[in-house]
Amino acid sequence: MPGHPERPERLLAVERLLAERDWLGWERREAPLATEAELEFAHSAAHVRGIRQLCERGGGAIDPDTYAVEASWEAARRAAGAACAMARALRAGEAEVGFCGTRPAGHHAERERAMGFCLFDNIAVAAELAIRELGCERILVVDWDVHHGNGTAEIFRHRADVLVANIHQAGIFPGTGASGDLGSGPGEGFTLNLPVPAGAGEALWLSLLEREIVPAAVAFEPQLILLSAGFDAHRADPLANCTLEAESFAKMARCLRRLARELDAPLGAVLEGGYDVNALADSVAATLAALAAPL
Ligand SMILES: [Zn+2]
Repeated sequence: MPGHPERPERLLAVERLLAERDWLGWERREAPLATEAELEFAHSAAHVRGIRQLCERGGGAIDPDTYAVEASWEAARRAAGAACAMARALRAGEAEVGFCGTRPAGHHAERERAMGFCLFDNIAVAAELAIRELGCERILVVDWDVHHGNGTAEIFRHRADVLVANIHQAGIFPGTGASGDLGSGPGEGFTLNLPVPAGAGEALWLSLLEREIVPAAVAFEPQLILLSAGFDAHRADPLANCTLEAESFAKMARCLRRLARELDAPLGAVLEGGYDVNALADSVAATLAALAAPL
């Protein structure tokens, strides 16, 4: 859709920069297609079928922000499939860290509906796969996209086996993620919302990660850490008002890498937002360099 912030140039910019840097030494893998059964780990069959049928008809608008075209069915299944393949590879011990450079993003998609540019919640599908098929009993999801990951939060809010920790700018889309929302039922205490004000910068973001999320994670003892890696808290991003730099994401990535090492758990990141293409590419490269650096 012309003029839409979630556009192919985002990934092209990331790939161009990483190719110039010889992919920072990372092994590249093609994203496989998720099966409909895998998508239904986190979504209703009706939602999965609805997206497939919309794409088969040529696509269209789902809401004022969110649309699909014919090719979105394959793209969305590859985005979720990449997250699943990464979870399998990490659990098999093939690597200690992984990153899915995919679109569309996922963390706004709820069990029953697409929203916020997201069709399926890629990280939620992977987390469910890890629990159902890979023997994980506890998974930590950290979401540092500038927007609250309402989809992942909704899918796991009643669950004690997935701790979902979000740092996000308060008062912007989607409006959820208040600090008093701790989850519900058996999941109470397994939702950690850390809203920040407009203008928040590296010092606040990094301190919330180090002082709130890391201690909660150490107590939770996850066997897998998944990161919803959005880069729209960058100061150049047109959709929000935080002031991180590419190097800020590298510092947060190093913090999570140390946590993962301490917990002896692998760490897998999935791309979410980030709408200034140059800031996005710089931030992804800085994050990948930090994740791969020796501790
Ligand atoms: Zn976002």
